Amino acid sequence: MSDALLNALEGELGAGGVLTGEAAAEKAVSGWSRVGSPIAVVRPSSTQEVSAVLRRCNEARQPVTPWGGKTGLVHGIFSDGMIALSLERMDAIEELDPIGKTLSAQAGCILQTAGEAAEAHDLLLPLDLGARGSAMLGGVISTNAGGNRVVKYGMMRDQVLGLEAVLADGTVISSMNHLIKNNAGYDLKQLFIGSEGTLGVITRAVVRLRQLPHSQDTAWIGIDSFDALPRLLRHLDRGLAGNLSVFEVMWQEFVELVTNAPALGRSPLQGKYPLYVLVEQQGGEQEADSARFEAVLMQAMEQGMIADAAIAKSQAERNAMWELREDVGQTSRNWPIYNYDVSLRIPHMEGYVRDVRAALLAEWPDKATLTVFGHMGDGNLHLIAGVPDRKPETKKRLNEIIYGPLRAIGGSISAEHGIGIEKRDYLSVSRSENEIALMRLLKSTLDPNNILNPGKVIYPATRGQP
Ligand SMILES: Cc1cc2nc3c(=O)[nH]c(=O)nc-3n(C[C@H](O)[C@H](O)[C@H](O)COP(=O)(O)OP(=O)(O)OC[C@H]3O[C@@H](n4cnc5c(N)ncnc54)[C@H](O)[C@@H]3O)c2cc1C
Repeated sequence: MSDALLNALEGELGAGGVLTGEAAAEKAVSGWSRVGSPIAVVRPSSTQEVSAVLRRCNEARQPVTPWGGKTGLVHGIFSDGMIALSLERMDAIEELDPIGKTLSAQAGCILQTAGEAAEAHDLLLPLDLGARGSAMLGGVISTNAGGNRVVKYGMMRDQVLGLEAVLADGTVISSMNHLIKNNAGYDLKQLFIGSEGTLGVITRAVVRLRQLPHSQDTAWIGIDSFDALPRLLRHLDRGLAGNLSVFEVMWQEFVELVTNAPALGRSPLQGKYPLYVLVEQQGGEQEADSARFEAVLMQAMEQGMIADAAIAKSQAERNAMWELREDVGQTSRNWPIYNYDVSLRIPHMEGYVRDVRAALLAEWPDKATLTVFGHMGDGNLHLIAGVPDRKPETKKRLNEIIYGPLRAIGGSISAEHGIGIEKRDYLSVSRSENEIALMRLLKSTLDPNNILNPGKVIYPATRGQP
């Protein structure tokens, strides 16, 4: 970066707005993502300042990487040789409309803060995920995050009514729509949702809120065979009359890890089963909802879908069940491991997991492990593969084993984490040549100098996409 650009940025943002050297390095840390060494971290405090930064960087052909809470899992914030544009100072909640059920905030607002603001008005911001205390609204929108409640409310895309974004040349596209119905021309916000900071920097957003549920019922269920799972999902969906909010499946290896020492959790069930499901419903009336929940589970048991089930009788028991599901860190006992986040149709899941497991064991007999769990209600599985080492060729072979079979069954290499730089080489498994060509056209039209998060999601046209 030239001194002229640095001086210009300092002039635009004032003291504390531009960090370099040690101060920039201190910000360049994440427990989840490779960050690299940005040449500077800029911290605008308004849309106008974001616009000024991008205009200056575009004129200087200086690459910029947007930073939210730095919890993304595909290294989309990697900023070697780039300026990192942190949204951390743009964290205000601007408006909460309890009648229209909308919340407007700046992109740096932490997801949990936005959720708590909604709850204070007896409303719910449906998106919830483990990184809620650090991830920012702009980050979860630009990655189109999913999380625990997609089966009921959809992904982040389904919660966004409007947004404001700044293009690479500094143009502000303010599309702060509050209406549920608005078919006036192209829905431009969709360009920025899920495009991981490659088409614009999101600066503000309007998200849709729902009525806060006042009842909650949770069960931990043992299942004898995979074919019972889709039947159980359908049965609960119908029987719980729209209240089913969580359907999380865990294969036996996962449950063994999280219910045995050194893990602190213990199984809520006596027996062992090949599969387990964490089920939750959220509704409006505790007594009636709980009675229906029990009755529907009982029917499922009578019809052979459930082998055994424990229903949480207190908040403490509910928390204990959730702690098992969220104790994903136990999988590192199989170190070295790699995490995958794939999406596929439910009828393909059993065969896919079986084939991947067989291929892993054929490649690395006695050394490979496979731990599987996920948001099965929305077709999303997380696979954690244990392999002998972390050499690049091992990772490449592992990618082929896990991504390869998805092509034939129309699966996705990324259910909810995005592409970043982690999955770029495999985009063509899930997207056709023409789809990738259109992505390139959008990128080169909106960012002709390729300054916005370059090399993320798709390779530059000059390099070609594998
Ligand atoms: C413990 C844990 C649990 C998780 N669970 C889930 C889960 O259940 N479901 C799920 O979908 N994801 C999950 N994630 C990953 C998830 O993608 C991120 O947590 C979140 O979506 C990213 O938000 P962030 O603010 O940290 O963004 P960052 O990590 O900072 O950035 C992510 C990407 O978005 C871009 N970006 C950030 N802010 C902006 C902006 N304002 N404008 C344009 N681009 C921007 C960045 O350049 C980068 O490419 C989890 C992560 C962790 C650590």
